[in-house]
Amino acid sequence: MNGKAQKILKTYFGYPSFRPGQQETIQHVLNRQHTLAVMPTGSGKSLCFQVPGLVLDGTAIIISPLISLMKDQVDALLALGISATYINSSLSISEQKHRLRDIAQGRYKFVYVAPERLEAASFVNLMSRLEISLVAFDEAHCISQWGHDFRPSYRSIVPNLQKLNNIPVYVALTATATEDVIEDIQQLLHIENKQVVKTGFERTNLSFHIVKGIDRLTYIRSFLKERSTESGIIYTATRKQADSLYEQLSNDGHEVLKYHAGMPEHERKDAQSAFIHDKKSLMIATNAFGMGIDKSNVRFVIHYALPMNIESYYQEAGRAGRDGEESDCILLFAPQDIQLQKFLIEQSLNDEEMKRKEYGKLQAMINYCHTDRCLSAFILDYFNDLQPGYQCKKCSNCESNVEKIDITEEAQMILSCVKRMGERFGAGMTAKVLKGSKDQKVRSFRLDQLPTYGLLSAYTEKELTERIQFLIAEQLLATEEGQYPTLKLNHQSIDVLKGNRKVQMSTLSVPTALDTDYNVELFEILRALRKRVAAEENVPPYVLFSDATLRDICRYFPGNKEEMLAIKGISERKFAKYGEIFLPEIIKWSKENPSVQSKVQIGVVSGAPEAKRNPREKSTEPSYLVSYQMFQTGKSIADIARTREMKKLTIEEHIFKAAKAGYPIFWNIFFEEHEEKEVLEARENITEPKLKPLKESLPESYSYTKIKAVLVKNDIM
Ligand code: ADP
Repeated sequence: MNGKAQKILKTYFGYPSFRPGQQETIQHVLNRQHTLAVMPTGSGKSLCFQVPGLVLDGTAIIISPLISLMKDQVDALLALGISATYINSSLSISEQKHRLRDIAQGRYKFVYVAPERLEAASFVNLMSRLEISLVAFDEAHCISQWGHDFRPSYRSIVPNLQKLNNIPVYVALTATATEDVIEDIQQLLHIENKQVVKTGFERTNLSFHIVKGIDRLTYIRSFLKERSTESGIIYTATRKQADSLYEQLSNDGHEVLKYHAGMPEHERKDAQSAFIHDKKSLMIATNAFGMGIDKSNVRFVIHYALPMNIESYYQEAGRAGRDGEESDCILLFAPQDIQLQKFLIEQSLNDEEMKRKEYGKLQAMINYCHTDRCLSAFILDYFNDLQPGYQCKKCSNCESNVEKIDITEEAQMILSCVKRMGERFGAGMTAKVLKGSKDQKVRSFRLDQLPTYGLLSAYTEKELTERIQFLIAEQLLATEEGQYPTLKLNHQSIDVLKGNRKVQMSTLSVPTALDTDYNVELFEILRALRKRVAAEENVPPYVLFSDATLRDICRYFPGNKEEMLAIKGISERKFAKYGEIFLPEIIKWSKENPSVQSKVQIGVVSGAPEAKRNPREKSTEPSYLVSYQMFQTGKSIADIARTREMKKLTIEEHIFKAAKAGYPIFWNIFFEEHEEKEVLEARENITEPKLKPLKESLPESYSYTKIKAVLVKNDIM
């Protein structure tokens, strides 16, 4: 490998070695051979033109359809002390003129432009007079008519460029290219087979999850309880969905952002900027958001609804974890979404042949939601990139932590309650009736007279609403649209009521944040410092240091310049700019926390981070107290069982054990006063003080849990 390239990698970018595909691509470009690099998102494609751009003389022209990305990329280069600029329509005319003059004088090593710029003869003219090192086509799949995001104007500029005789070499880069797209790009840019570098599509740091049979909002709420401090994106299928989810999560008190094409441009811009600058961490958006989002520390991407094909899904989900850190991609599947996607295909202006193709792609997407195979393997197979025997060992199918619970009986009770309420009420009221609520409204409609009143009193209203929402999602119960959607039975409800159909609900636990093998306290301090400095310089925080770099600092606690330079992502140039700001903070913290020792010797930092530790194993607290604490935060026993992947009975035992140990319990959750009295009386009257005869002597509605709770409270068990 070119020694100069290796040196640039270290001194400019602070990386000890190239990643797969980078070295080969860079070598081809340095040999002046037109090259196509097909490498997944986050694999480091930018370096494939940045390193040769620095080795070679002249200016590198980077063509990118992603206008919003240009400024960030240029800022990142400037932070390394590399001269770079961009020209696009977001700049004033006078600023554009000014920059064009500087470009003409060869003052920049890198110039980013949108394809449209090359439609103008004046810019092509300017290029013809420049010393050019290379021309890079970023997001090259947009050139191809077979690509899922074809931009005709991008394709049309290629002949203009080919007329110039001062372009030594082209390099095209893309993350998503099927075989037809690769061939098309090759033909257009005259790239030979041996100059196509493919590293495969696998994103080893992403864990894929399918969640079905669970109310989506409930899932998101419990997800955010665990992961609210991390950066994440929730994609919705429609603007309406984005608006309503934004509303609901804001009302819950979450700091959320929203982005869709129906919003005014300045609002979209502000939302995007707040997300990129880490001002707020959660973005709710339609697929209009994301093209050109280069935020490297997105830790999760949730799809609230079914995407239209695997290509879009992989691209959107792939916005997680660009920094190489472990991240989660979660798809919430509900069967009714299929109708929406079919409708969108029908509504499109595509011809019949194209529509047929789209239906085929949608079917593959649906199959993904139903497959039992490893989810990563499914995707890689779709892109013809599957190695025999491959399994990711961390997707929801490989992990298989999905437990199904049979709720047929509860479903029948819910449905019969809906029927008895005259199909005139919504989910909230139905839950109240089933719970046996004393709510004024329930009484005023005389719903407390119904035989189904209080039939599911063992559940909380929240749990009942969740189950009702689940039945709606599974189309086992219909809703009449309107401001207050009322519940109605449908054909499938009748099947359930007649006992012809079983109802099973998943109890999937939320993927918890992993990688906690670094010091979180120092990380938060450095993150805040990074945010402050970035705001002063008006650049996104990751331009200073990526999350991956900050985490490494918090694993190895460097104490001087040399040790700082041993951290991945800290080059001489980065150190010169930011080292003196960060180092004193790290030293100060290390002094204040002398007991926290680096687990690894500085100097051998380049290896992979230590194996992930499961946070569930981290707690040294007795298990019953963990359940108790969760219970005290208001979680139901069912919720705790789901989160901790334990049986409900076990959790109950935990709570009772805590009570016996003297921890306070709010007993009303288990029984009411008159029930307590009745249990105590019954116990007086039985000869053998055991649970079974006690249960048999009480009415049917007195569950074992209720009875046990009374006994524990009164210290007689
Ligand atoms: P892509 O364009 O392929 O999505 P980027 O070029 O944005 O990916 O790179 C993703 C991240 O990987 C960036 O934070 C980048 O600095 C980092 N990176 C690139 N090359 C290397 C390397 N050789 N070693 C370590 N990190 C790298």
